[in-house]
Amino acid sequence: MTMPRDVIRADVLSLTSYPVPNSVGFIKLDAMENPYTLPWPLQEQLGERLARVALNRYPLPRPSLLLDKLKYTMQVPDDCDILLGNGSDELINLIATACAKSGAKILAPVPSFVMYSISAVLAHVEFIGVPLNVDFTLDVAAMLEAITAYQPSVIYLSYPNNPTGTLFDDADIEQIVRTANRSLVVIDEAYQLFAQRTWMSRTNEFDNVVVMRTVSKLGLAGIRLGYLVGLPDWIREFDKVRPPYNINVLTQSTVDFMLDHLNVLEAQAAKSRAERERLAEAISLLSGAHVFPSSANFLLVRVSDADMVFEALLSAWILIKNMSKMHPLLGECVRITIGTPDENARLLTVLKSIQL
Ligand SMILES: *Cc1c(COP(=O)(O)O)cnc(C)c1O
Repeated sequence: MTMPRDVIRADVLSLTSYPVPNSVGFIKLDAMENPYTLPWPLQEQLGERLARVALNRYPLPRPSLLLDKLKYTMQVPDDCDILLGNGSDELINLIATACAKSGAKILAPVPSFVMYSISAVLAHVEFIGVPLNVDFTLDVAAMLEAITAYQPSVIYLSYPNNPTGTLFDDADIEQIVRTANRSLVVIDEAYQLFAQRTWMSRTNEFDNVVVMRTVSKLGLAGIRLGYLVGLPDWIREFDKVRPPYNINVLTQSTVDFMLDHLNVLEAQAAKSRAERERLAEAISLLSGAHVFPSSANFLLVRVSDADMVFEALLSAWILIKNMSKMHPLLGECVRITIGTPDENARLLTVLKSIQL
């Protein structure tokens, strides 16, 4: 009799699946989704568009009209290319696969986005985590030292950083990019619309910088589309490890449509930015809560008992993310995605009713 443990890699056996809690019926403030749906007329137009998509055909592997439109809309430098991924999660995996030379290392500040280390483990690449300062700014000296010591193939900088919300300093990033002249620096701009800062226009200024974006946090998490922007020499190599039909026809058609209506998503992001400021202020007035500055669509909040706060919200049908076991620097921290004004008001009511 064959058992999975006879066949499956030992390190895979010891992993746990990425936890996605059942959220049916909950106010969902755990996954940085845009809380707003598309307005009805757009839903209807998109429906008509999608009804005509040729589902019997494989998608175009390099949809050049869509790529050109994305390039133009997102102000990608002329001499850069784009690689599409089934979410940026897939791009992160492609990068790990393509860079998995024997002895290769992937480096990122910690705590940061978990996929950087998960993708490394799966590709048999060692992951080097460099702790942030206690205020979640970059420990530049430690970063530079680790880069020199480990010579990583890839360095990830989440800009702004998930789960802390910190927008790393541009001069610090530049120093890392210049020191890491044997590494590829991936600037992950998943929260670009909430930070309103970007390295996009500088992608071609350095030969070792690529910028990664996703439409997930903009309001299109369900369609799974990420994109990587960089000089053609980089994009060409990563394209070789991409599954041939990784972006399905419905996603391609939806993105094509939404690029014509980006103003709707931008207006929703502007609402979330305003709500972020309002909510940050309101929570920081509650005694026992410390709100860290955030440039994303979530707030990292330190309380005295994160498990208790998580459970109290859960009983009130509000789902947030308890970060307190993820990394020592995140002790007693919870991450709260910005919801609609109504959802945020209900969150605040519960927070006011308990001892933070
Ligand atoms: C959410 C997130 C992603 C993943 O985005 P997908 O496109 O949904 O896979 C990537 N990077 C960071 C920092 C994120 O927070």
